[in-house]
Amino acid sequence: MDYYFGVDVGGTNIKLGMFSESGRMLENWEIPTRGRNYTEVGKNDIMQNIAGEILYILEERCISRTKVRGVGIGVPGPVLDNGYVESCVNLGLTDINPSLVLSELLGGIPVTVGNDANVAALGEMWRGGGIGYQSLVLVTLGTGVGSGVILDGKIVYGAKGLGGEIGHIMVNPNETDICNCGGRGCLDQMASATGIVRNAGKILKDTSLPSVLRGMEGFTARDVVDAAKAGDPAALVTLDYCMQFLGKCLAAVSYVVDPQVFVIGGGVSAAGDFLIRIIQEHYEKHAILKKEKAKIVLAVMGNDAGYYGAARMAMDKKEERHAFLARTDGIYCDTAAIHGSGSGTN
Ligand SMILES: [Zn+2]
Repeated sequence: MDYYFGVDVGGTNIKLGMFSESGRMLENWEIPTRGRNYTEVGKNDIMQNIAGEILYILEERCISRTKVRGVGIGVPGPVLDNGYVESCVNLGLTDINPSLVLSELLGGIPVTVGNDANVAALGEMWRGGGIGYQSLVLVTLGTGVGSGVILDGKIVYGAKGLGGEIGHIMVNPNETDICNCGGRGCLDQMASATGIVRNAGKILKDTSLPSVLRGMEGFTARDVVDAAKAGDPAALVTLDYCMQFLGKCLAAVSYVVDPQVFVIGGGVSAAGDFLIRIIQEHYEKHAILKKEKAKIVLAVMGNDAGYYGAARMAMDKKEERHAFLARTDGIYCDTAAIHGSGSGTN
């Protein structure tokens, strides 16, 4: 049997999954990002840590490294479509091609690298909320708003790896606070867990709406959602206010990439169908031209989407290489046929 690995690199932990060639997840692990193989100070430490872990796993199971067809890896930062990472602030990575570095450390196993949100979108398409679809947008509502776009089964990278980054689209021209990207009025400021808490604070201050949140010190987005579900007036106004920006933004996105489905994940999505209904209402109000509106569904894979998607990315890459070889072979044959026939079309 041959194998693939999917790796999701986070700021604190790395999740790894080992898959069979047919795509069955066999085993998974979670290790600290700077783990037991963390030896030297340098930008390759994380790659050494991942390589060390994979080689250790293979050795322990007596699996030859030649049996590993590919490793996919998702990193939290923009990735160019050649795998190059100019800057990945969370991990302290700059000017590195993780696929080349890791592949060398793994003795030549092919490595494919992608942005973590894009890779998670692929995971949700493969095994999660977007199963059965080929064009989808994953939006994760966590500390920030993350997103990934898959069109016709392929990750949209864009020219500089920023394709599908909807969190910093400006959606609220009236916002006065500055976003951590330096902009103002970004979706990230309105629809993330942080944004929900911040906006709830403003609404409590600016209105006299009754709310259980008034008596809570340091409430969280979860508290706002729970209160809204229980009919709390200020919490309901907050969620509706925040999600209108998301709905509006998704309508704009659907005019650009026309996905079949939007998959909503991240901590805030624990609010379930209650949240989806609010987003859907605002989305449909703004996606006027679209007769058949895209579906909006919940993500189901949680933190597993990343390493599943990374493994899938490695599998797709392998297929691409095969298709490329088949294509070039085909061209060779055609050319030979043309020359052989002496048709003299040129
Ligand atoms: Zn921003």
